[in-house]
Amino acid sequence: MALNSNVPSGPLAQKWDKHKFDLKLVNPANKRKFEVIVVGTGLAGAAAAATMAELGYKVKAFCYQDSPRRAHSIAAQGGINAAKNYQNDGDSIYRLFYDTLKGGDFRAREANVYRLAQVSVNIIDQCVAQGVPFAREYGGLLANRSFGGAQVSRTFYARGQTGQQLLLGAYQALERQIGKGTVTMYPRTEMLDLVVIDGHAKGIVVRDMVTGAISSHAADAVVLATGGYGNVFFLSTNAKGCNVTATWRAHKKGAFFANPCYTQIHPTCIPVSGDHQSKLTLMSESLRNDGRVWAPKRKEDCSKRPRDIPEADRDYFLERKYPSFGNLAPRDIASRAAKEVCDEGRGAGPGGKGVYLDFADAIKRVGEDKIRERYGNLFDMYEKITGENAYETPMRIYPAVHYTMGGSWVDYNLMSNVPGLFVLGEANFSDHGANRLGASALMQGLADGYFILPYTIGNYFATNKATKPSTRHPEFKKAEAAIEALTKKFLSINGKRTVTSFHRELGRIMWDDCGMARTEQSLKAALGKIPKLREEFWKNVKVTGEIGSLNQDLEVAGRVADFLEFGELLCLDALQRNESCGGHFRAEFQEEGEAKRNDAEFAYVAAWEYTGDLSKPNLHKEPLVYDEVKMSTRSYK
Ligand SMILES: Cc1cc2nc3c(=O)[nH]c(=O)nc-3n(C[C@H](O)[C@H](O)[C@H](O)COP(=O)(O)OP(=O)(O)OC[C@H]3O[C@@H](n4cnc5c(N)ncnc54)[C@H](O)[C@@H]3O)c2cc1C
Repeated sequence: MALNSNVPSGPLAQKWDKHKFDLKLVNPANKRKFEVIVVGTGLAGAAAAATMAELGYKVKAFCYQDSPRRAHSIAAQGGINAAKNYQNDGDSIYRLFYDTLKGGDFRAREANVYRLAQVSVNIIDQCVAQGVPFAREYGGLLANRSFGGAQVSRTFYARGQTGQQLLLGAYQALERQIGKGTVTMYPRTEMLDLVVIDGHAKGIVVRDMVTGAISSHAADAVVLATGGYGNVFFLSTNAKGCNVTATWRAHKKGAFFANPCYTQIHPTCIPVSGDHQSKLTLMSESLRNDGRVWAPKRKEDCSKRPRDIPEADRDYFLERKYPSFGNLAPRDIASRAAKEVCDEGRGAGPGGKGVYLDFADAIKRVGEDKIRERYGNLFDMYEKITGENAYETPMRIYPAVHYTMGGSWVDYNLMSNVPGLFVLGEANFSDHGANRLGASALMQGLADGYFILPYTIGNYFATNKATKPSTRHPEFKKAEAAIEALTKKFLSINGKRTVTSFHRELGRIMWDDCGMARTEQSLKAALGKIPKLREEFWKNVKVTGEIGSLNQDLEVAGRVADFLEFGELLCLDALQRNESCGGHFRAEFQEEGEAKRNDAEFAYVAAWEYTGDLSKPNLHKEPLVYDEVKMSTRSYK
């Protein structure tokens, strides 16, 4: 099957405007005849649901938390990029576009990335109008700071709580529509299946997480904005609830999954401290504006207190290796550099798995109060977790799984290959290629939700008749029966191992064999272990509680069962990509320690089709064509 990205023709800078004009419109009076299901009310989903409702569509929105305010987006700390050039430091739409494309190691779709940079400026205006309290300069202009992979300051922020403030903005917009009756909100409701009728997405099957009731919802289109799948690694900086269930089950109903092996390992996280942990904590990339990353030059110094290691014996390895970007080298590059140092035996802290992030120079330069003002909540969080005061001693950091660039395949309209199924935010694969730059996920989620989907979904409605089916349709009944049977199966196994023990073991396989570095050998090993673990899961898992009530064990069992299938696809994708690019580092393909791409053979999006046999999915390739930009070897030196 040929994948059609539906990228419009014409010059890059005019594609989106031309496309918006060419898209068919739905007249205002007809909009209320269309019903849209939005699964997920994080930044992408809340923005989409509120905007579509404002346009006049009838929206049903779903999330598994008790309130949209608790979506994982709330965790975002550092900021959101936009090409406003308020700093007058040489930024432009073109520069944001180029930085993002290059940051993604030339594995993203050029036209999507350009549109993202264009739309970024509107996002800031919209959020300011909503009252999002972005940090401001003395004179009143919005303040900016720098993030990795950029030499300009274009990141807008609200202390270390940018995601929370943006989500409150989107949530208010959503609540307004809920109040008006244009959005019906279903919190504590988990989507467990997608229903496809005559080839079009027409609804979902959900479980009420409080009563356990399974039911169906029909619509004219379905939007998934269900976030990323980083928790396939068990330990990650993601909220514990983040999972792959919605996009995975849609995959099993025909939606292609693109580039699953592109996962982002973030360099500045609090190191793992033991087997008791169930999650990891990010120390925002914004800290690298002022913090300097270093490790002892000599192994013998690793057990010394950092303050006892003199300047001459410290290796500021990012500044040494990447002088022009220094501590703000992109995440994939900074993570690998930290791993390299620790692999050489120069890591700090327990187990040698850590490097220092030191604020001593910045405190000397601008004073402790200024640093407190910029990052106070992050320093407090660090102290609560480690018991160390980072104003006095450097933070210890180590890379951890953080974000997933892969996701459902979507075209330029954000529609999957299943007509009527749209996928937004971290759940799609669209804009970040093989590595996302810091502060670009919030930008993409809000671009998708506020400014792209509301246009493109109209074209789908205008070119397809409103045919919302009844939930009595046999496809709904079949899907409900399958979910009920699956639920009963979980509870009937009554084995000896907890759901979490399986998840933890899967995570270890994924991290050891398909983590920061992968090889053909390690991937083949993982592909041997995962099906065996899955087989044991279905024989030996113990899921406690009952069907007809709140049952968190059951909820997690469903998500882990999906991770156990999805993990195999992730490894297969990593195995077929015989090159290194961005966050996908195949140790066999490197040059002087840097990722070595193979553009001649691998400049494509890998879009996988479910075949019923988990070990033999079909690979479809969408060629990546660059009209405007020349693919070059990334250099941050
Ligand atoms: C610690 C941390 C800090 C970060 N900081 C930044 C930053 O500073 N800047 C930046 O740009 N990015 C940052 N990111 C990344 C960014 O926060 C996320 O990529 C982004 O918020 C994802 O938004 P989303 O709307 O796509 O999904 P989410 O916010 O994850 O929302 C997912 C929604 O889907 C719902 N859902 C999922 N599955 C189901 C289901 N089966 N049924 C019903 N509902 C479902 C959930 O309830 C939720 O409402 C950070 C990430 C982390 C982990």
